[in-house]
Amino acid sequence: MRKIPYIDLIGQHAAIKEEIMSAVSKVLDHGHFILGPEVEEFENKLSDYLGSKYIVAVNSGTDALFLSLKAYGIGAGDEVITAPNSFLSTASVIAAAGARPVFVDVGSDMNIDPELIEAKLIKKTKAIIPVHLTGRPAAMEPIMALAKRHGLVVIEDAAQAIGAEYRGQKVGTIGTIGCFSLHPLKNLNACGDGGFIATEDQKICTTLKQLRNIGLKNRDESEIWGFNSRLDAFQAAIVGVKLKYLAAWTAQRIKNARFYTERLKDVCVVPVDKPGEKAVYHTYVVRVKERDRLMARLEKNGVTTRVHYPIPIHLQKVCQSYGYKKGDFPVCERQAGEILSLPVYPGLTEADLAYVCDLISGFYSEGK
Ligand SMILES: *Cc1c(COP(=O)(O)O)cnc(C)c1O
Repeated sequence: MRKIPYIDLIGQHAAIKEEIMSAVSKVLDHGHFILGPEVEEFENKLSDYLGSKYIVAVNSGTDALFLSLKAYGIGAGDEVITAPNSFLSTASVIAAAGARPVFVDVGSDMNIDPELIEAKLIKKTKAIIPVHLTGRPAAMEPIMALAKRHGLVVIEDAAQAIGAEYRGQKVGTIGTIGCFSLHPLKNLNACGDGGFIATEDQKICTTLKQLRNIGLKNRDESEIWGFNSRLDAFQAAIVGVKLKYLAAWTAQRIKNARFYTERLKDVCVVPVDKPGEKAVYHTYVVRVKERDRLMARLEKNGVTTRVHYPIPIHLQKVCQSYGYKKGDFPVCERQAGEILSLPVYPGLTEADLAYVCDLISGFYSEGK
């Protein structure tokens, strides 16, 4: 029996271990473990990669979002619009900043439906956090037009979408500010927590650099309260190495996705690339009948799959006080029962992908 894990970090690192060890070894030799030269170098490389003026490396994607809200002064008494089908982090930071998360249903692409946003805007609405879920760009043009009309900040949650493009522009550089994660499971991954923020605004960049370092503006002075959200040099050294491979890894993800789509389009609902968008397939999500039974069958045959995410955020206990209930976001809720993420990581072979497809086709042709 073939064994296909959901993701293979050991395989990823085996291929580049020497390069990583040499980068790590340099850090040990110079001893600047927090921020330091590797972090600055990584920020500069990312700025070239994304075509963004400033990059601020932080401790996680969650902190990237949280500090962005802080940098724009969003907090108590404010409302922030986002999607209910994201990773919990997206809504969590809104509440952590003291503001109220306001959810808007998603479309068939699993991203926030821009048509439904305007009805939710009130005086207190200060920002929108569109999530580029699965690595597919959200509809940034209508979102930006709406934000402009209403004077809203747009914080892109690009945690799953590094390298994705919307009408030729990389996501994370289209909104007011862009947030990324370097979590081990993301497309560009550290060997621990990490994240970064992309901005075109020098003042915001300065504020973010203070916010990530307790509020210090130099060694001894401060004008704002801050946090400890510094990236460490080991992580920056490691992702600095991996950044060179990101384009090839992304191409491989897209190739894997195309293989799945070709083989599965008649068996289940496959993701669709719309004109003008480049999705980077952080996850390859199909919508299927009898999801849980299929998932168990795949697992029994050596294929691990996941559900991102089985419980919509508005239905989490933590959201009870906001008064949301089942039925509020029907598209998101229906998808939560049907979605299944298939392994799509770059190291998969065509034989692996074919094995997964055969199992799925076999499952649905039983008894026919
Ligand atoms: C992973 C993720 C985050 C949080 O990133 P961390 O680095 O794990 O804190 C936020 N939003 C989305 C959509 C994510 O997938």
